[in-house]
Amino acid sequence: MKSRGQFDLININAVHDKDLRTILDKFGLSEKIDNNSLLCEFCYQPISWNDIGALLIKKPRIIVCCNLVDCISSASYMMKDGRVT
Ligand SMILES: [Zn+2]
Repeated sequence: MKSRGQFDLININAVHDKDLRTILDKFGLSEKIDNNSLLCEFCYQPISWNDIGALLIKKPRIIVCCNLVDCISSASYMMKDGRVT
């Protein structure tokens, strides 16, 4: 889950829906998902509650990606690199 203490990569499969909403509420993102206005960091497609793939948190920033394999692996690489734009 953690890498070098820099990032928290949260795999959505490991998070209960209620917890996920709580986490996203903290970043003001739940509403964006409800409105279909939260875009995947990598493929720029709108993310819904059903296809959210992972959260990459580096306070105060949060990166959200969809559940496409390519996007999740991009998030993993980003975490390993310690790179956030
Ligand atoms: Zn994506």
